[in-house]
Amino acid sequence: MRIALDVPLPRLFDYAVPSGAELACGDRVTVQLGRRNQTGVVIEADITTDVAAARLKSIIDVRGDAPRLPADWLELMRFLSSYYQRPLGETVVGALPPRLRSVKPLPRKPLQLAGEPGASDFVPLHALTAEQARLVDAIGAKLGTFAPVLLHGVTGSGKTEVYLSLIARVLARGAQALVLVPEISLTPQLEARFREAFPRTRLALMHSGLEDVARTSAWLAAARGEASLVLGTRLALLAPLPRLALIVVDEEHDSSFKQQEGLRYSARDAAVYRAKLAGCPVILGSATPSLESWYNFRQGRYQRLELAQRAAAGAQLPVVRTIDLREQARDDGFTPPVLAAIAERLKRGEQSLVFINRRGYAPVLTCEACGWCAACGRCTAHLVLHAADRRLRCHHCGAEEGIRRSCPTCGNVDLKPMGRGTQRVEETLAGRFPGARIVRIDRDSARRRNALVRTLEGLRRGEGDILVGTQLLAKGHDFPQLTFVAVLNADAALLSTDYRSGERLYAVLAQVAGRAGRRRERGEVMIQTRYPDHPLFQALLQHDFARFADSQLDERRRAGFPPYVFEAALRAEATELAHAMAFLSAARTRVEPPEAVRVFDPIPNIITRRAGWERAQLVMQSGSRPALQDYLARLSATLFEEPARSVRWHLDVDPIEFD
Ligand code: ADP
Ligand code: ZN
Ligand code: ZN
Repeated sequence: MRIALDVPLPRLFDYAVPSGAELACGDRVTVQLGRRNQTGVVIEADITTDVAAARLKSIIDVRGDAPRLPADWLELMRFLSSYYQRPLGETVVGALPPRLRSVKPLPRKPLQLAGEPGASDFVPLHALTAEQARLVDAIGAKLGTFAPVLLHGVTGSGKTEVYLSLIARVLARGAQALVLVPEISLTPQLEARFREAFPRTRLALMHSGLEDVARTSAWLAAARGEASLVLGTRLALLAPLPRLALIVVDEEHDSSFKQQEGLRYSARDAAVYRAKLAGCPVILGSATPSLESWYNFRQGRYQRLELAQRAAAGAQLPVVRTIDLREQARDDGFTPPVLAAIAERLKRGEQSLVFINRRGYAPVLTCEACGWCAACGRCTAHLVLHAADRRLRCHHCGAEEGIRRSCPTCGNVDLKPMGRGTQRVEETLAGRFPGARIVRIDRDSARRRNALVRTLEGLRRGEGDILVGTQLLAKGHDFPQLTFVAVLNADAALLSTDYRSGERLYAVLAQVAGRAGRRRERGEVMIQTRYPDHPLFQALLQHDFARFADSQLDERRRAGFPPYVFEAALRAEATELAHAMAFLSAARTRVEPPEAVRVFDPIPNIITRRAGWERAQLVMQSGSRPALQDYLARLSATLFEEPARSVRWHLDVDPIEFD
C-alpha cells in the first residue's frame, strides 16, 4: 500500500497490508512513522515497493469509523497538491477535520445534525421576479452537466433566492448542493434564510469557528451523503460529497476564498475544477466579479447571467456622487454635504453609514518637533493608536504597548495622532451629533462575536442612527432603514502600486454603497475624494461594472499582468534579510526556467519585516500555464530536496497578496 502522510516532504510511504485486511484507495489507516503513530490515507493499492521486505512495516489499524474517501475526492486532492505545489500527504491529511486526522478513534456518538436525510421541501420566501425566474430556468437546464456560470447581480438583486430555487431542484433529485460563502459567523441571517427555506433538510454547516465535534459531524454527514446541503467557508470545498450536483460560490470576488497559509488554494478556482469532476454547474455569484472571472466570461469560458434590477418591490440602486475634497472645507474629515446628509437622516429617523477603511483611533502617533513616528519593533509598520484603551497596536503582528508620554528621540511631550481611524470618526460624530446613537463596527468591536451578532441584529431593527465601520460592514448585511452611506476617503487605494487595488476598491465601494436604500427609500452615497473625475468613480456613479472591468482588463493586458499572464511567487523568510535574498537568488540559478517563464529578481517585500521575520520574494510569470507549472514542479522538487537552514519558504500559485 502506498500511503499519504502529513509530513513536510513530497513523498508517499509504503506499508504492508496486515493479513486478512481488505484495503482500497481512500481508506484511512494508522501507521507508525519513526516512533510516532500517524493517520494516513491509502493512495495506491497495487504497488511493488522498493522497500526491503525486512524493513517494510505493516499497517497498524484500518480505520472503519468514517466512510472510505471517494475516488473523485482523491482526484481533487491530487489536483490541489500538484497545482499549488504542496506535498500530497499534507494536502490529503490536512483536508480532513482534526478528529479524523487524529489517531484516536472517533467519539462513539457524533453529533446528529438536525433534519431528515433526503428531505427536500422548499419554502420560498418570495415569488421570483421575472429576471430571477429566467436565471433559475437557464441554470436549472444545465443540471447534470459541467457549466461554469458567472451570476452577475447588482447588490440587492436577490441572488440568494436564485441559489435557493436551484438548490430546491437539486434536492428534489436526491442530490447534494454545496454553497461557499466568504464569512458565515457574522451573517447568521444567511444561515437562518437557508434553514427557513429548507426546514426539513439536513444542512451541514462548515467553517473554522466550529468546535471539533460539530465540524467532524458535519463532515461525516456530507461524506456519507446524508447532508443534502452543505453551507460553509472555503474549507467546505474539501469535504467529500458523493452526490454533488451544484456548487455555489457566493461573493466570488472575495479574497477570503484564497487560503494564505499551507496549501494556498483558491476555493473559487478549485470549485470550478471540482464541478468539472462532478459534471455539475458551478455558480460564481457577485455584484463585482473578480477580474479573473470577468476575463473568463469575456473569453467565452464562463457564461454570464445578469440580474440588473434590485429584487424588492420599488427598490432601486442608490444615487452615488463624489464630493470634491479640493473644493470643500473639511471639519475633522467631514465635508458639509456629508454632515448635512447625516443630519437629514437623523431628522427622518433613518440610518447612515460612515465607511472608513481603517480601524483604531489614528494610524500614526507622531512628534511634530522631530518627525518621529511610533513604529513596531518587529514589523516594517507604524503602530496604530487605539485611544479607548490607550494602547499602540501593530495591525500586522498584534504587538502592542502603552501610549508614550513623550517623544523618545527629542523629549517633546506634545505627541499628535495623525490621520484617522474608526474610533476617531466615532468621536467626531459623537461631538457633532450629541444624542445620536452611534455604533462602531470593526475588527476591534467584533472581537466578541456574539456581541457583534447582537449589535448587527439590533441595527437591522433600527437600533442605532449612525454606523461607523470598516469593510466588515460591506459584506452581505441588510439594514432596512439605512438610506445614506458616506465614504470618507478612498484615495489611498487609487494611488497604490498594487495592480489589484483598483479592482478591490471598486468592489468594496460598490458593496458598501449597496447597503443603502435596499427598500423603498432610494439610497444616497457620497464619496469624498480629491479625484472626482477618476474613471473608477465615474463607473461607480453609473453602476457600470462592465465598463470598469473592461478598462481594468485592458490595462492589465497592456502591462502584462494577470489574468493575461499566470503568476507565482517564491517567498522566503529569515531572521536576516540577506539570508532570505541569498536563498531566492540560489533558487533562481539552481533551476533554469524555460523560455516561456520569466523569473524576476528577488526583492524584499513591501512590509519587509513582519513579526520579526525579514521577508523577500521572487515573482515568476508566464503566458503558458503548463510551462509555469512544469517549472514550479521542478523548482519545488529541488527546494524540498535540500532543506533550507534558517530560511522558511513557500510557493504561492496565483498569489493575490504581495505585501
Ligand atoms: P443580493 O445577495 O443579490 O445582494 P439578497 O439575496 O440579499 O441580494 O436580496 C436582497 C433583498 O431582496 C432581500 O431583502 C430579499 O429578501 C429581497 N428579495 C429577493 N428576491 C425577492 C423577490 N423575488 N421579491 C421580493 N423581494 C426579494
Ligand atoms: Zn521628537
Ligand atoms: Zn508588528
